[in-house]
Amino acid sequence: MLLTRRDFIKSTSILAGGILLGASKLSALQQDLGKGFKLINDNIGIFTERGGTILWYVSKEGAAIVDSQFPDSAKNLMDGLKKKTSRKIDFLFNTHHHADHTAGNFYLKDFVNTIAANENCARLQKEKNGGGEKDKTQAYPNFTFKEHSSFDLGKERVEAYHYFPGHTGGDSIYHFVNSNVVHMGDLVFNGLCPYFFITDEGSFRTWIKFLDKVHGQFPNDTKFIFGHSADPEKVIGTRDDLAKMKNYIAQLLDYVEKEKSAGKTKEQISASISLADFKGYVEPRPGMLKTNAEMAYEELSR
Ligand SMILES: [Zn+2]
Repeated sequence: MLLTRRDFIKSTSILAGGILLGASKLSALQQDLGKGFKLINDNIGIFTERGGTILWYVSKEGAAIVDSQFPDSAKNLMDGLKKKTSRKIDFLFNTHHHADHTAGNFYLKDFVNTIAANENCARLQKEKNGGGEKDKTQAYPNFTFKEHSSFDLGKERVEAYHYFPGHTGGDSIYHFVNSNVVHMGDLVFNGLCPYFFITDEGSFRTWIKFLDKVHGQFPNDTKFIFGHSADPEKVIGTRDDLAKMKNYIAQLLDYVEKEKSAGKTKEQISASISLADFKGYVEPRPGMLKTNAEMAYEELSR
């Protein structure tokens, strides 16, 4: 189609107007919900306050939340969502058992029908909190799955996948199929050295395989939500961010393996660790790169 200059100006201004209208409508909706909310479209968005990023979905036919942060921030999330719907939340999904993703379950339990997670996630949450006073402030999943499960939200469907141990032994990703959004939990620390302790039953080696699998599973335009990000604007990202996280772990394992075969001790490797492509990488807590090296050494020694 050939456009005259006048037609071109007319059609581009209509287009720009349309985009502007869409964006301003979303930001107005966002402000209505309160602080910490960011919409992806009318029905789905994220919530960030303290701890792991929350993904939420609300429509007339169904509602779901992925991860729950802490009781105080979970309350702020719920206060916002109540402005959007009076219905009970059908599903609260947990990506893994860490407190900054599950402690808010306790607040949310009265507003949700089902708390769902991978069976290892549920077990680890119980083991880490079970017995004594801590247990009284926990709400555990009442539905668990092994490798895969599907959840119906009317016009939306959620597919959950647990492929391998990664950041922990019980990581799952949640794909909101029609919205084309995937919550990665802490399988991606975007632009950050990842938090990783071997006692959580995770594995650097299979974490790489998990990321490869997900990278191959979804197209380029899928939006990925990350548990944590160095840049708050990059909590939502792309497949490229999955590849970068994978490269970090691969370089870490490679470095530690070479040094270990050369006879270096865990302490020596931890003291000298440096990854060529990740110099000055942000640590979520001081010394996390050294801790990563020690955990890689322990995994390679098993
Ligand atoms: Zn975590």
